[in-house]
Amino acid sequence: MTLDTPFDYVIVGAGTAGCVLAARLSEDPRTRVCLIEAGGPARHPFIQVPALVGAAIAHRGLTWGLSTEPQAALNNRRIPLPRGKVVGGSGSINGMAYHRGHPGDYDDWAAAGNTGWSWNDVLPYFRLSENNADRRDAQVHGLDGPIHVTHIPRPNRLNQAFLDAFAAIGGYRHCDDFTGLDPEGYGLRQATIYRGRRDSSASALLMPALPRPNLTVLTRALVTGIRIEAGRAAGVDVSAADGRHSVPASREILLCAGAVHSPQLLMLSGIGPPRHLESLGIGVKADLDGVGANYHDHPAVAVALEMRDTTSYGLSWRTLPRALWNLAEYALARQGPLASNVFESTAFIRSGAGAHRPDIQIAFQPARRNPNAFPLPLGHGFALSVVNLYPRSRGEVRLASNDPRVAPRVNPNILADSEDSAPLLRGLHLARRLCDAPAFAPYEATEVRPGRDARNDADLEAYLREAAATVHHPVGSCRMGIDAMAVVDPALRVRGIDGLRVVDASVFPSIVGGNTNAPIVMVAEKAAALIAGRTKEPV
Ligand SMILES: Cc1cc2nc3c(=O)[nH]c(=O)nc-3n(C[C@H](O)[C@H](O)[C@H](O)COP(=O)(O)OP(=O)(O)OC[C@H]3O[C@@H](n4cnc5c(N)ncnc54)[C@H](O)[C@@H]3O)c2cc1C
Repeated sequence: MTLDTPFDYVIVGAGTAGCVLAARLSEDPRTRVCLIEAGGPARHPFIQVPALVGAAIAHRGLTWGLSTEPQAALNNRRIPLPRGKVVGGSGSINGMAYHRGHPGDYDDWAAAGNTGWSWNDVLPYFRLSENNADRRDAQVHGLDGPIHVTHIPRPNRLNQAFLDAFAAIGGYRHCDDFTGLDPEGYGLRQATIYRGRRDSSASALLMPALPRPNLTVLTRALVTGIRIEAGRAAGVDVSAADGRHSVPASREILLCAGAVHSPQLLMLSGIGPPRHLESLGIGVKADLDGVGANYHDHPAVAVALEMRDTTSYGLSWRTLPRALWNLAEYALARQGPLASNVFESTAFIRSGAGAHRPDIQIAFQPARRNPNAFPLPLGHGFALSVVNLYPRSRGEVRLASNDPRVAPRVNPNILADSEDSAPLLRGLHLARRLCDAPAFAPYEATEVRPGRDARNDADLEAYLREAAATVHHPVGSCRMGIDAMAVVDPALRVRGIDGLRVVDASVFPSIVGGNTNAPIVMVAEKAAALIAGRTKEPV
């Protein structure tokens, strides 16, 4: 099928970024927008109920089922690479933690030549989408945007032990606003939850826009390539249950397929490193060596403890009556533990004297880490995940085939740079000191991972190789910049091709020091303004 009237904008991927763009661009009733998503609608309860986040990640019907290439520095393990394949994308299966990274991260972007992306430039776009229930500083926070941000009303009691442990060991400060101007210290964190349900760019922006006659949303429709005609992106090819379609765009195609699939689609369409494309028989439309390069993610490793005490979130025979009560409380009032994303407190700190801003996150999880993919934690315990916020290792996304249905090969090169391990090792030592603090003593928890047999740096280094993974924040594979390896310019336009932008995690020049969802919403908000030709920043 070829549509008679082209859409003004065709958006590929209804993930975190794509939903923002579709909603913002269709605000103008004269603009025809088509949003195309490979997955289905976001109705599943695993998506809606915050505490079922683990089940959403493990659900094969909601994700692409990817894993990385064997990782040389991680004992050749393949690392799980969950990516949402559903309306809302990875924002429909993520942990809902709300962070922006450090203000200095964006100043670094600008200093690398990305004019318009400094902290002062991007702050208005963070505020635009934010509806912060707890903060009142309107200079820094959005108070009436579409995406609801809140603290968990009744955090698990173990969080207090985590905060008290930090206070007891000394040397670190409390932070009461991780998305403010100085996100350093330990404290309770915020999440994108509204009335006991996940809030996301899908629920908060796309859903209210669906009735607009100028917005068409195709689901379960795989984009197989971008058609380039005379140096211009003219439309996309789509494979759906009812056959193959061609969807033309008169103004622009906006690629929002995420850090794995956006570079895949560019390469399938002839935009990328020429030798790689030619080796797969793909004709080169634009010679861009940077496509698929610079892929990176936050590496992480956890200290996990188990206990008989039943304070933590989790299911056990002894807590069955409480679980039934929690279920009833959620069903009737959307409150209680099921309305929590479980990740309720955290710390952003400097692991050593040389760090010029917090370089590790220690995320507290008041639940036993499940050895299997059961939707809810079984048994009781808690875990402290140490995250290296500024890894130096860089990897790549490469095509495994010229068949769009074959997953690309993703090699993040986790911990390939020898300097990436040191902050994690320092973080593991610190996490153990926290667990040994008096605040945790009443729970009589036993460390099961790495286990107290691992004593010195060599033992912990071996544990890193055996247990490290990532916290699912891949970025950078279609990097924005002004140098030869940049894929998009600071207006997010693909170099060498007209009418094509990339708007998602892949345009990050470098990863930010925090979880990535809100920064991607910001990127999409700013992209919507750039596309519409609005030069004045929102107030
Ligand atoms: C398990 C997990 C937990 C996370 N936890 C947090 C957290 O707590 N806080 C936080 O801030 N961030 C978190 N993140 C990160 C954050 O959710 C992602 O960085 C963000 O959602 C990525 O947004 P995106 O728009 O770049 O891509 P995505 O949201 O992944 O969107 C890409 C969309 O494109 C679609 N697509 C891809 N290829 C095609 C194709 N060929 N045709 C049609 N459609 C296609 C996909 O199905 C998907 O819907 C987490 C991520 C994961 C996976």
